[in-house]
Amino acid sequence: MADTSVSTSSATGATDPETTGTRPADPRAAFDYAPAPESRAVVDIRSSYGLFVNGEFVDPVGGTSFKTISPATEEVLAEVGEASVEDVDLAVRAARRAYTRVWSKMPGRERGKYLFRIARIMQERSRELAVLETIDNGKPIRESRDVDVPTAAAHFFYYAGWADKLEHAGFGNDPRPLGVAGQVIPWNFPLLMLSWKIAPALAAGNTVVLKPAETTPLTALLFAEICQQADLPPGVVNIVTGAGETGSAVVAHDDVDKVAFTGSTEVGRMIAKTVAGTDKRVTLELGGKAANIVFDDAPLDQAVEGIVNGIFFNQGHVCCAGSRLLVQESVADEVMERLKRRMSTLRIGDPLDKNTDVGAINSAEQLAKIHELSDVGEAEGAGRWSPPCDLPARGFWFPPTVFTGVSQAHRIAREEIFGPVLSVLTFRTPAEAVEKANNSPFGLSAGVWTDKGSRILWVANQLRAGVVWANTFNKFDPTSPFGGYKESGYGREGGRHGLEGYLA
Ligand code: NDP
Repeated sequence: MADTSVSTSSATGATDPETTGTRPADPRAAFDYAPAPESRAVVDIRSSYGLFVNGEFVDPVGGTSFKTISPATEEVLAEVGEASVEDVDLAVRAARRAYTRVWSKMPGRERGKYLFRIARIMQERSRELAVLETIDNGKPIRESRDVDVPTAAAHFFYYAGWADKLEHAGFGNDPRPLGVAGQVIPWNFPLLMLSWKIAPALAAGNTVVLKPAETTPLTALLFAEICQQADLPPGVVNIVTGAGETGSAVVAHDDVDKVAFTGSTEVGRMIAKTVAGTDKRVTLELGGKAANIVFDDAPLDQAVEGIVNGIFFNQGHVCCAGSRLLVQESVADEVMERLKRRMSTLRIGDPLDKNTDVGAINSAEQLAKIHELSDVGEAEGAGRWSPPCDLPARGFWFPPTVFTGVSQAHRIAREEIFGPVLSVLTFRTPAEAVEKANNSPFGLSAGVWTDKGSRILWVANQLRAGVVWANTFNKFDPTSPFGGYKESGYGREGGRHGLEGYLA
């Protein structure tokens, strides 16, 4: 990163309203917000953390650790224990003991009480969790406070309700837990992904060993404290921090009965190979390149809000992000003009500021990947545009960016960029929209914007995507299943369906 404030402003070419002079003066001028930082004082970040095994924080056997930093400032937050194969083995043994002796024997209504208790403590400590998530991940406090933490608690409430009703979930009269679940999660929604994994596993009677992402371990470790506070029996939840090798040890461990992974398609493929030929059950939630389809009869202002939410929410670090905008040719110019005007009002900067819309990119590696693919987009001939914005001098930052004139062959139309970068394609007929939307190796999500209910149903039926949002985007609810087709993985998380992956 440059060591001074960076201003970005580039023009896309002759049709760009900025260059043709039709665009109004910088709309941010009308919205001058005073800083409104959330206090860090609510969180007590320790200087070092051990692994959470058998209900206690323990030092890793080899004594090695790594640093977790704030991506917004590059400040070192804490030293975190790095779990070796031996540590993973101890965690799996603890999980097996807890499974055999306690958790699998406990009536569902008793397991449910623990899950309700965890959910309530998460609500009570929600401010602490939100601030910590924002500091460690770089996402705006508005998102961690209003989306991540409440939705994470909602998952525990929801699955707590299923714990004593499993025989009514549609998986036979006597569904049984699988045993020990090994779970590996990414850095984009650290606490929320943890709850997607742990809540259904525990409700179904399994015990877990979970590995958080290397860059975002802190809320998982605070969750471990919550397990202690809830008096969860030791060994039911174990948290092993570390890098890819730790994840690989969890997946490969002989005594793990179920593997649940969210992350890149590349690592998902490696995991599928590792577990092939074993008795392990697997669910994989991988990448995406969602089409967000805007028809000419859509309410355009709402559609623009949906486009912005679809790609700039969480800096675009969202597997189901609406990263490909398919807009009907007859309204393309108007949509682009409104979109650029709206993008110019996005506030980028301090994630702890309650006014911030777009926070920091999670890591230097991810920032480099976003730069690389954006440069490829430009080199392949797409028009690049970002609103004028000042980026902080330290930390990892990327301005909201839109590429116009993108074709199916462009890499930015096919590959997951996982950043605040939108590729815009046009179409003329509904059939063309469907054809282009489905022309992707992924199949996780999609959005449809139109006034016609019949068209929503027709398009949704044709789309090969696990989730299709109509006149909205990025809506998450614990009662609703989520998962993909093709290279987006297999298995479903959330809802009644989410229990299936944890029951025999
Ligand atoms: P990864 O898929 O590498 O990471 C996801 C999780 O898997 C992390 O906890 C990671 O650990 C762990 N892991 C890494 N290697 C292995 C392995 N061999 N066996 C088991 N677990 C492993 O994603 P990255 O964080 O490296 O991001 C790379 C790209 O993946 C991004 O640029 C983005 O495009 C995509 N991505 C997609 C996500 C999605 O939800 N669709 C989520 C995250 C990333 P560690 O953190 O130490 O690497």
